[in-house]
Amino acid sequence: EAQKETLGFQTEVKQLLHLMIHSMYSNKEIFLRELISNASDASDKLRFEAIAKPELLEEQPDTVIRISSDETANTLTIEDNGIGMSRDEVIENLGTIAKSGTAAFMQQLTGDQKKDASLIGQFGVGFYSAFIVADKVEVFTRRAGADKTQGVRWESAGEGEFTIETVEKAERGTRIVLHLKSAESEFADGFRLRNVVKKYSDHISLPIELPKQKQGEDESQPAELEWETVNRASALWTRPRTEIKDDEYQEFYKHVAHDFENPLSWSHNKVEGKLEYTSLLYVPARAPFDLYQREAPRGLKLYVQRVFIMDEAEQFLPLYLRFIKGVVDSNDLSLNVSREILQKDPAIDSMKSALTKRVLDMLEKLAKKEPEQYATFWKNFGSVMKEGPAEDYSNREKIAGLLRFASTQQNDDSEVVSLDAYIERMQEGQDKIYYLTGERYNQVKNSPHLEIFRKKGIEVLLLTDRIDEWLMSHLNEYSGKEFVDIARGDLDLGKLDAEEDKQAQEEAAKAKADLVQRIKDVLKDSVDDVKVSHRLTDSPAVLVVTEDGMGLQMRKILEATGQ
Ligand code: ADP
Ligand code: MG
Repeated sequence: EAQKETLGFQTEVKQLLHLMIHSMYSNKEIFLRELISNASDASDKLRFEAIAKPELLEEQPDTVIRISSDETANTLTIEDNGIGMSRDEVIENLGTIAKSGTAAFMQQLTGDQKKDASLIGQFGVGFYSAFIVADKVEVFTRRAGADKTQGVRWESAGEGEFTIETVEKAERGTRIVLHLKSAESEFADGFRLRNVVKKYSDHISLPIELPKQKQGEDESQPAELEWETVNRASALWTRPRTEIKDDEYQEFYKHVAHDFENPLSWSHNKVEGKLEYTSLLYVPARAPFDLYQREAPRGLKLYVQRVFIMDEAEQFLPLYLRFIKGVVDSNDLSLNVSREILQKDPAIDSMKSALTKRVLDMLEKLAKKEPEQYATFWKNFGSVMKEGPAEDYSNREKIAGLLRFASTQQNDDSEVVSLDAYIERMQEGQDKIYYLTGERYNQVKNSPHLEIFRKKGIEVLLLTDRIDEWLMSHLNEYSGKEFVDIARGDLDLGKLDAEEDKQAQEEAAKAKADLVQRIKDVLKDSVDDVKVSHRLTDSPAVLVVTEDGMGLQMRKILEATGQ
């Protein structure tokens, strides 16, 4: 197997490489963030595997990342002594993209560099970003625990293919050598390199070392390289909130979330008492491309006493908050905790409900203090939040307060109206929240059901999202005000109808009894009932769903599924 093999990249990798090289150059230094992030993950994984197999640590129990450059050769080297990779793992990790939905995602790319850069950012650039600055990349790696003869050398120019061969490697872990493009030699400059590394390393919990800068030494005398640590090398979430700068929080987010943009908001908390844990939760600024894919990764990074245990621990937040990223570090769980154990542990349930509250509080705060940011949040994650009341009954009032709707108050379909704002605008004598559901905004906006409300100046929420009817079937009231679907049953406007209006309505109903009977005879079984209505001011007739009948949207959904 030692012989050299040449393999082709998966098609999606080729596309990604091509796009990245052509659209990311305005942000090229992020390749260092990605490679440092990977080296840090590799150290986390080693420490985790070493819980069960301490021998993996070999003679080097401490993990470290070392970054150095060679100006003459125009190379930059990033070396870690983390978990490393086997030959098969190298082929899998550095030759393909494992995320599901990747091919579909690639089809969305437009060729417009600016748009594509932001899409790729949302997808996650990762290891392949090395090719933004390098025209050749070599990877030397050996998996912890494997024999010295089982090292692997990978090499590629970032075009269609890569080579792979088995080599000897004395130390476990991964060394990545970037052969910089001639235009990118700045990254081989010790001074420039130091600045970039510092920017991307303070939140990393293991030491990052650079060659020590020596002064007044005889350069012709090759001395043993000395290293110095340039970051704090402590887990960010263990530090006191007041000592952490915003940009440190932001860089840490990009590392844990594999995101490219800053988060919208975060919440960092230490909980003491019966259960002790620290959480650092982030609201991303943008939805990931796979938000609606069932098997898409979700959940928090779990640490136990600062030791990384797993990615994507789903047990700490409900499904409708699956977009939240971050870390939870528990002092009480065992280092041997598994997904199965998490599922059964009642302590996890109480952490889950506390963390859920934290997220809802953070969103409430965002909505109050930064309404514009909240509007961005809602655009990206609103439809997911709408799953909340059905999934999380106990928090439905809190969730309802975070919902945003289109309404007759607005001239377009943007979802900007909160229930609190609606209630504030209620008419004298109004004690209900009125809404109308439908498939399209233009159709709902012109519905005859709205006539009487327009006339009386009463606001109606216009719900045209696919999930809205499902949502409303789980919300009965908010702030003590009942929700009323104005397309259903007898419309009782309560105190909003003056006494004389009511009498006039009853008289009209009596006078039209004959007509109603004739219409009933003609329509027979096509309708449940025919009534004289005061809903309408201009239109002659309207179809109404009975109080307990299935809504029109739900009917369509069921029809579409063949029921
Ligand atoms: P991500 O970090 O989001 O998984 P990357 O493209 O950055 O994606 O890396 C792809 C994979 O390659 C990683 O998931 C990891 O398995 C492997 N990998 C990358 N760098 C290293 C490294 N320094 N040590 C061990 N494995 C690595
Ligand atoms: Mg990565």
